[in-house]
Amino acid sequence: MLSQSRYLDNYWRCNNLPNALGYYKLLPKTNCGECGVPTCLAFAMRLAANSAKASDCPYLDKEIQHQLNEQSLPAVKEICLGKGKQEIQVGGETVFYRHEKKFNNPTAICIGISDQESRTTIDHKLQQQGIERLAEQLTTNMVALINDSGKKEPFIELVKHYSTQTVLPVIILSENVETLKEAVTLVQDTNPAIGLVTDKNKEELLELASQYSCGVILSAGNGIEQLGQLVKKAENAGISKILLDCSGTDIFTTISNQVMVRWKAVKEKNRTLGYPIISFPGNYTKNPSEEMLVAGLMLGKYSSIVVTRNNELNLLVPLLVLRQNIYTDPQKPIQVTPQLYSIGKVTEDSPVYMTTNFSLTYFTVSMDIESSNYPGYLLVVDTEGTSVLTAFAADKINAEKIAQAIDDTKLESKVAHRKLIIPGYLSPLSSKIEEKTQWEVLVGPTDSAEISFFLKKQWRNN
Ligand code: SF4
Repeated sequence: MLSQSRYLDNYWRCNNLPNALGYYKLLPKTNCGECGVPTCLAFAMRLAANSAKASDCPYLDKEIQHQLNEQSLPAVKEICLGKGKQEIQVGGETVFYRHEKKFNNPTAICIGISDQESRTTIDHKLQQQGIERLAEQLTTNMVALINDSGKKEPFIELVKHYSTQTVLPVIILSENVETLKEAVTLVQDTNPAIGLVTDKNKEELLELASQYSCGVILSAGNGIEQLGQLVKKAENAGISKILLDCSGTDIFTTISNQVMVRWKAVKEKNRTLGYPIISFPGNYTKNPSEEMLVAGLMLGKYSSIVVTRNNELNLLVPLLVLRQNIYTDPQKPIQVTPQLYSIGKVTEDSPVYMTTNFSLTYFTVSMDIESSNYPGYLLVVDTEGTSVLTAFAADKINAEKIAQAIDDTKLESKVAHRKLIIPGYLSPLSSKIEEKTQWEVLVGPTDSAEISFFLKKQWRNN
């Protein structure tokens, strides 16, 4: 077993996990199947893909199991804030560059609410903001209640008001320990986070967080080294929900700190700095548009929570879209749900178009149908998010799949005719589709921008 430990040490020294063959060398190679797969090699492949735990093999040495399980944890710990339906997970990241794999938990957009703001503004900010884009709801996720006044009464009022108005996860921020002590009792059931923990107030705040099982925001203050010391203190106090505020004196220093923390966590396997980062772009500008620009920079480099003082939707939309783009899996095309969509006031005589579930294809085709001013059904077939031409080339679309989609969506009960308009690129499939579905196939244009022209020429005269 000593040799196995040495063997693993080589991997750890290179900051790498073994690949499938590396894992295989550690396994007993008896192919007993007790881990749920028939062979040790299959199990090794699952370990390498992170879809199994080392402890699933009862014959693997306990020490090796422990080491492998430890090393396979995300470099940035995953932290849960809030309760119930609005609960969020932040962190849980495993890579430095998105293209290495993907980023896991989208940055939480947190609306900062000051105890100096009017009740109308506070009520407005307590409302979750959002839009729908590419079949996904993009929304703000949490609120931060901020004791800007430095006084206890208005802050406690704000915290009380929050607790009667919303269930969004909350962060409470005050420089006054006594104020925080009272505030935390009002939100202790919501799984909140408190801050900022600095070198000065660390003893009292860590004790408070430990008492109420809260998350804590640790402030870098004099730099990353001090941050590491605070993390150790918090861990020793039994606190597991830790957020790192890497704020420096200017934007450049803050972003450098954030990049350094993520680098150390992911590339140097520094567990002390392996916690989600929270940032406060409002510290650097009072201009709302500039604040959103800084928020975008911090979201990209590597904030798990961005606290912004603005919740105007027109300012938030670019941030929400940026987050969606960064946190999509680069290896998976963005998809819409394969189903039957009605576009406009459809009737039983409306045309039925068919396309694939690649988001961009779906939105282009549906907008072209809409702008034709002729309501229609759009049958979206599951092609694993690929476009029409790619799906055709990779055999992800065929007559059987289309026939199945017609059955699954009960299309026959929705229209009186039996005519299906397929994308021009699928014309080679038309006779097979007719054979499988008993529907008449009309070959539509290769470019959906020509749908209006197609309708005039081929549908209305049909
Ligand atoms: S339980 Fe262990 S020894 Fe048995 S097949 Fe799985 S990996 Fe191999």
